[in-house]
Amino acid sequence: HKYVYDFAEGNKDLKDLLGGKGANLAEMTNLGLPVPPGFTITTEACKAYLATGSVPAGLADQIATHLAALEREMGRRLGDPDDPLLVSVRSGAKFSMPGMMETVLNVGLNDRSVVGLAAQAGGNERFAWDSYRRLIQMFGKTVCDVPGEEFEHALDEAKRARGTTDDLDLDAADLRELVGTYKKIFSKHTGREFPQEPREQLDLAVRAVFDSWNAERAVVYRRQERIPADLGTAVNVVAMVFGNLGADSGTGVAFTRDPASGVQGIYGDYLANAQGEDVVAGIRNTVPLQELERIDKESYDELLDYMARLERHYRDLCDIEFTIERGKLWMLQTRVGKRTAAAAFVIAGQLVDEGLVDLDEALHRVNGAQLAQLMFPRFQLDHEFQPVATGIGASPGAAVGKVVFTSARAVELAAEGEPVILVRRETNPDDLNGMIAAKGILTSRGGKTSHAAVVARGMGKTCVSGADELDIDVPKRRFVVAGHTVTEGDVISIDGTTGKVYLGEVPVMPSEVVRYFEGEVDPATTNDALVRAVHRIMSHADANRRLAVRTNADTAADAARARRFGAEGIGLCRTEHMFLGDRRELVERLILARDPAERDDALAALLPLQRADFVEIFREMDGLPVTVRLIDPPLHEFLPPLEQLAVNVAVAQERGEDVAKEEALLAAVRRMHEENPMLGLRGVRLGLVIPGLFAMQVRAITEAAVECARQGVRSCPEIMVPLVGAVQELETVRTEAERIIAEVVGGSDVDVLIGTMIEVPRAALTAGQIAEAAEFFSFGTNDLTQMGWGFSRDDVEGAFFWRYLELGIFGISPFESIDADGIGRLVRIAAEEGRAARPGLKIGVCGEHGGDPDSVHFFHSVGLDYVSCSPFRVPVARLEAGRAAV
Ligand code: ADP
Ligand code: MG
Ligand code: MG
Repeated sequence: HKYVYDFAEGNKDLKDLLGGKGANLAEMTNLGLPVPPGFTITTEACKAYLATGSVPAGLADQIATHLAALEREMGRRLGDPDDPLLVSVRSGAKFSMPGMMETVLNVGLNDRSVVGLAAQAGGNERFAWDSYRRLIQMFGKTVCDVPGEEFEHALDEAKRARGTTDDLDLDAADLRELVGTYKKIFSKHTGREFPQEPREQLDLAVRAVFDSWNAERAVVYRRQERIPADLGTAVNVVAMVFGNLGADSGTGVAFTRDPASGVQGIYGDYLANAQGEDVVAGIRNTVPLQELERIDKESYDELLDYMARLERHYRDLCDIEFTIERGKLWMLQTRVGKRTAAAAFVIAGQLVDEGLVDLDEALHRVNGAQLAQLMFPRFQLDHEFQPVATGIGASPGAAVGKVVFTSARAVELAAEGEPVILVRRETNPDDLNGMIAAKGILTSRGGKTSHAAVVARGMGKTCVSGADELDIDVPKRRFVVAGHTVTEGDVISIDGTTGKVYLGEVPVMPSEVVRYFEGEVDPATTNDALVRAVHRIMSHADANRRLAVRTNADTAADAARARRFGAEGIGLCRTEHMFLGDRRELVERLILARDPAERDDALAALLPLQRADFVEIFREMDGLPVTVRLIDPPLHEFLPPLEQLAVNVAVAQERGEDVAKEEALLAAVRRMHEENPMLGLRGVRLGLVIPGLFAMQVRAITEAAVECARQGVRSCPEIMVPLVGAVQELETVRTEAERIIAEVVGGSDVDVLIGTMIEVPRAALTAGQIAEAAEFFSFGTNDLTQMGWGFSRDDVEGAFFWRYLELGIFGISPFESIDADGIGRLVRIAAEEGRAARPGLKIGVCGEHGGDPDSVHFFHSVGLDYVSCSPFRVPVARLEAGRAAV
């Protein structure tokens, strides 16, 4: 079994086997770029080691063979006392996990080869001892779990003795002494001497890198980023090159474009006379990469040339690690670089212009989550505002408000109309009301799957979690951060995208991308590169997608906005809000009717109001389909709460007032109480139990369509019956509806479809029968999910979802992204059997999943006709439907 690959044997497509770093080192080697020679031990070796606890048979020999080849190539032997070869032992998994795993530099140094290294470096003893102390420090910490602080203390101590704070002021003698101290620290903690045998150093370092795959922080990171736990890491053994040999040496990082904005140019940092890890550690101040032109023009030009080549080769933004050893440039790493959402769009557009990718490819370089990010309002930041803390951007948005520390206070202040930010160490289910009341949530503990993060995302509320610089004192109602004390009522601003926290009120501005979708920015003339790129990519998505995109809208205003955002119809127009406000009174009359005549009166009063609502919406959608859902929630939701009524009755009785009406209401509320309203008298069941209710709605819809036709406005109403579980339910409603429609339409040119929601699991499983009575299906995936799983959407997120996510039972909430294996299977069955029974059956989705990127791909794969989502998600759905299709 082949466990070891020379760099020359690999390539960039072997990331599974060689990890990202190894595959790209191989690719650069084969491109002829100056990569120090080396080899990669595969992820398979790692997996075998992790499964059995010992390195697989044959690995040691293969390492020996490749090491010998490396030694021949370099003309030096590992750890040779006179002229040592040194290597780095670097982790590198398939997906980049920055800083999560381990790397050991300078392997091969010992008490004897340190002298050889000094000679090799032209008598530079300082350099040799510095390299040796770095090895003991890194090796001790990563391979043998020696506490890193002990080495750091010793280093600080040495500097203090010298009266300096700069590493560079330590001379060879100081560093030699420090090595002595380090070795003592090492043996104190490990009970053995620092290993002098180079091959033993190498083998232990390889094992340590393997083990680092399962380090706690790596496990947590993988769970958060949804990286599978069983991939393992590769190990790269690379000949050392030295950036710490003097002023003509150095090390740096570079990006081929600005990863924040996408703008082309030279971006990066350089640090003279240093080894790679110093740049990341921020030990000394780096200079902008452009400075390298002045320091070492030859290397600079060479680097720029390689950067351009890598960009053309990878056809994307690359980031790079490099080191210059005495004027000679070495490339130590490259990969397709991470970038912000804005940069992703801008770069995709640029690459099309440069002819490096086509539009299909550009569409795949961006995604709906990025587009959604670009649609949030943002802070208008000038230098006046500096963040005081940075946590995890757990739920995007820009929130400004007064600080509160308890859920109760949040509710109180919000009720007075104050925007509040709820600040907690971490949240728990008791904080739910406060979270609902707050504009934003800020916690000092927990990551992307913490209670706060999960619940906030579910509510679409801005959240920054894990801002651990915050020292929160709830009893005193204050927190301390960066020397500032913030007390209850002080205003702060939090950015749920970047995780940054600001004191005071940062002005918020609408996103330019939303202004473009609103039609306020003309993509043809704007000089905003982001808007131009978004427009171009959206146009391509629209031209190619197979799924239509509709919106969920209950009002003409929502419908209008959604149309501007590109909606091609309404997939869900709920009618229940049409019974609220002043109309509640009429609903009460309906509920309390003592005989059919009273009931008919109440319905007759509701009819013209409903009709007017529909006329408005049909006009707004002018010719586009509008799916109207007949009333769905239990009627008692329209009545006042029991406690409130009971109090009213008592108070009125006390005063000797006439309480007949209140008493009747109270009795009705008691009568209609349901233990489990979600599964109670709602949807089609209401229509079958309350005579005239659905008939009134059908009449209002049809009359509105006829009236529109008379005014020259075409409408395409689709009447949708909710909560059907059996075809007989639908047939009963349908028979009556058809009679009314025929009567109202008369001779006018109006066509009304009748269909049903598929949201009860039984409906999905009997879809073939139901299709006989339905002209369309619309999956109500919210209810389908809650009934399929048997948990209530309104209750679970705060109660236990966070725990399920933590445990990995879900990768993501099934209300956020469709559970393709379970609930998705119901969708698939229903779509197939529905279409088999009625070819051409129109099928869409109107649950919240219609605007979720992964779910859109799923619905595309099932072959649905459209998705419907809230107006703001319409652009996201358009983009993802396009991505699914190309
Ligand atoms: P990470 O994945 O955390 O970036 P790396 O394996 O890239 O870890 O190594 C850490 C640092 O050491 C980087 O700055 C890298 O450039 C540097 N480095 C790694 N191998 C060598 C080498 N053979 N010679 C010089 N510097 C190296
Ligand atoms: Mg690196
Ligand atoms: Mg429903």
